[in-house]
Amino acid sequence: MPFLKIVNCMDPILRKKCLKVDNIDETLAQLADNMIDTMYAASGLGLAANQVGVSSDLFVIDVGVQKEKRDPVIIINPVITASDELVMAEEGCLSIPDLFAEINRSQHVEVKGYDLKGNELRYEAEGFLARAFQHEMDHLKGILFWDNLSKVKRSIMQRKFKKKLKEVIA
Ligand code: ZN
Repeated sequence: MPFLKIVNCMDPILRKKCLKVDNIDETLAQLADNMIDTMYAASGLGLAANQVGVSSDLFVIDVGVQKEKRDPVIIINPVITASDELVMAEEGCLSIPDLFAEINRSQHVEVKGYDLKGNELRYEAEGFLARAFQHEMDHLKGILFWDNLSKVKRSIMQRKFKKKLKEVIA
């Protein structure tokens, strides 16, 4: 089971809106499987396709996180059908390693999408999991979590990221 390379926030693919999936085939199923393996290998809770360099509208997420039991699902062409009041909590991103920030997200969301057989899926999530859904869906729209910060806070984080990147390369 090959692990995929997770691109970092400097990669322009993360700034492009992903294309709707209109053909679910073996290649897509293989991609989704590899994304699940990659997500767990990176100790992530969710992973969007563009984070592994594929600009397609799908993500994988572990909906079992609150039950402390792995339950990975693949959600194709997702949309948020309901959300409620915003709450602040800390979050991070596999494409912006080791940096965290307090971000406003809805406490509850309802998400609709499709599985690999083309069947409709619906999830209701709250708290940490609701946050993960919103984070992954932002990725598919070309949005990174620090876009939700003030300009000042964002540029501080961006500087920190670039500094880390230099340390890694040096
Ligand atoms: Zn992310």
